[in-house]
Amino acid sequence: MTIRFAAIASLAATLALCCPPAGSAAAAAPPAAAAAAAAVPPASVPSAAGVSHGDMEPQVDPCIDFYRYACGGWMAHNPVPPDQRAWSRFGGLTDANRGKLRDILAADAADAADAADATAAGHADRASRDADQQKLGDFYATCMDEAGVEKRGVAALQPELERIAALRSVAELPVLLARLHRAGVSALFRFSSAQDAKDATSVIAVVDAGGLALPDRDYYLKTDAKSAEQRAEYLAHLQRMFELLGEAPARAAADAAAVLDVETTLAKASLDRVSRRDPFKVYHKVGRADLAALTPSFGWDGYLAAIESPPASTLNVAEPDFLKAVDGLLRPTGLANLQTYLRWQLLHAAAPWLPSAFVNENFAFFDKTLGGAQMLKPRWKRCVEATDGALGEALGREYVARWFDPEAKQRTLALVGEVEKAMGRDIADLDWMSGETKRRAEEKLAAIANKIGYPDAWRDYSRLAVVRGDLLGNVERGDAFELARRLAKIGKPVDRKEWLMTPPTVNAYYSPPMNDINIPAGILQPPFYDPGRDDAPNYGAIGAVIGHEMTHGFDDRGSQFDGHGNLADWWTPADEAEFKRRTACIADEYSAFPAAGDLHVNGRLTLGENTADNGGLRIAYQAYEASRTGKPRQTLDGFTPEQRFFLGFAQIWCSNTTPEAERQNVLTNPHSPGRYRVDGTVVNMPEFQQAFQCKAGAPMAPEKRCRAW
Ligand SMILES: [Zn+2]
Repeated sequence: MTIRFAAIASLAATLALCCPPAGSAAAAAPPAAAAAAAAVPPASVPSAAGVSHGDMEPQVDPCIDFYRYACGGWMAHNPVPPDQRAWSRFGGLTDANRGKLRDILAADAADAADAADATAAGHADRASRDADQQKLGDFYATCMDEAGVEKRGVAALQPELERIAALRSVAELPVLLARLHRAGVSALFRFSSAQDAKDATSVIAVVDAGGLALPDRDYYLKTDAKSAEQRAEYLAHLQRMFELLGEAPARAAADAAAVLDVETTLAKASLDRVSRRDPFKVYHKVGRADLAALTPSFGWDGYLAAIESPPASTLNVAEPDFLKAVDGLLRPTGLANLQTYLRWQLLHAAAPWLPSAFVNENFAFFDKTLGGAQMLKPRWKRCVEATDGALGEALGREYVARWFDPEAKQRTLALVGEVEKAMGRDIADLDWMSGETKRRAEEKLAAIANKIGYPDAWRDYSRLAVVRGDLLGNVERGDAFELARRLAKIGKPVDRKEWLMTPPTVNAYYSPPMNDINIPAGILQPPFYDPGRDDAPNYGAIGAVIGHEMTHGFDDRGSQFDGHGNLADWWTPADEAEFKRRTACIADEYSAFPAAGDLHVNGRLTLGENTADNGGLRIAYQAYEASRTGKPRQTLDGFTPEQRFFLGFAQIWCSNTTPEAERQNVLTNPHSPGRYRVDGTVVNMPEFQQAFQCKAGAPMAPEKRCRAW
């Protein structure tokens, strides 16, 4: 029941390779014992120059494999913890932040319990304590009460299961489906809101593809042996889940087959991930009559009323063919299969918050079989994540108050200004772009809004009810609150202060329709940013992060939006053709990288991220060089300033990944594996060759280089 990241998946481009697939119970974290130490293991202690010697593998030639040279030591000392799919510098910092959030929540939970007692005893003064803290404490304490969850069993699911069983006709489906969508169940399709891609000042309703439990359509359709094996495992998982609900094995097996059948129909009609990166392929603005014509069997009036949507005379139907396929499923003869499918989707969404038999079975398939994790995360981590999911800005507000140095915001803003100037010079100096397109690019650059740390205005949770002792209900109410918040935006002015990530998040994003970059407080810490260290690794790390987000405005996708956030072509035809030639070079480069056994990186799926990595590192480098004007050139720890810059960059990407997770990433993640985010980027920079004195033709100094920005 995680819809919070859906907007990020569909609109914005993120930085990190972490993010768990939406709707899966999976999210990153290491074992409890490692919690305190993992963020900064002894091998990662940086020198005064800001370079972590222990993380390096100095016997490797940096001109042959720079990633290994910079990260080989880290990889040897940081195996993937058993409760993780992958482990990285991002993961270590995320885990450290999670520990801080636990401290906040544990204190809130204790206070909340006191407050409840005090209220019962009539102490009105205690009842006036901050309402958000009370909600945080109640949410977390309820989640941590494992015995209570076991005792309740599946009772909390029963009313909804009965409603599904009581479905008598297709005509009754819309109201039931709206109920399920409000509770965070992503059955059949997704309904939300978004800025109109061609008029970024207005927010319209969006109907999008959805309804699949596996991580991607390809999992249902690919015919290779591994994919067939995973589908067989999925069928077995479906059967076991139905058995846990009390079905006899034969019935459960038949129901599993019915679910796979419905989901395969939806998968066949779904666009693949590369196509979805094309903003025109997911933009089809229609009126209500057109919507009704696409889906004659679905009563939209009933659905929109039940989901409490504001009046929506026009909508974006992201994938019309998908919606036609949904309509094809709405036949009286298919009603029984639909009910089975809805029962499964409800159970799947609820599984992480049910008794341990469900939690363990859900983990065994989605995290272990598909993701390579060996053990379930400790409950406190899952509960911190759930609380962050439901009350993220209330929790983030406390995190910022305790852990974020306001000076980090000012320093980061100054750095953003320097990187922006560097990008301006970079654009001005491009030898392949006409003056006309350059002027448009500069206009867009000047219009980018920079949001650092946390929102100026915090979210109001007064309409979210948190009930002590009702975990599943709390999660469902959290999802309903979030959906209502999104739908309330339809027809209203765009809220430019909104954030799509919570403040403790170790990540960052750029949003094309907002034309803004967002750097949460959570990432403004070592190894990304450390005010006490030498400048070079700061420019190489957080400077490259800022450059990455800025370049997203000009990657193959972002470049199709103008400075106002509208899908509008601002390129001359000749410049556009040359830009496409240059990004094709990057796509081909990364497509040649082997990953996950027999697979390769998908250069088209990862093109936006790779373009952002390349442009981001280049402009961060230019900003660093500009910052050194008039300063003495100092070698520290045996590294020149330029070498320290590139090491600072490479060491944020140190990572280890299970083979299972790497396979899933290659199929679904728009980010390349960490090693290619380093090696694939530095090979394109003559400045790197010069910094490490690489011979021309060395693996990290090829004759053919790619460059878009
Ligand atoms: Zn990115």
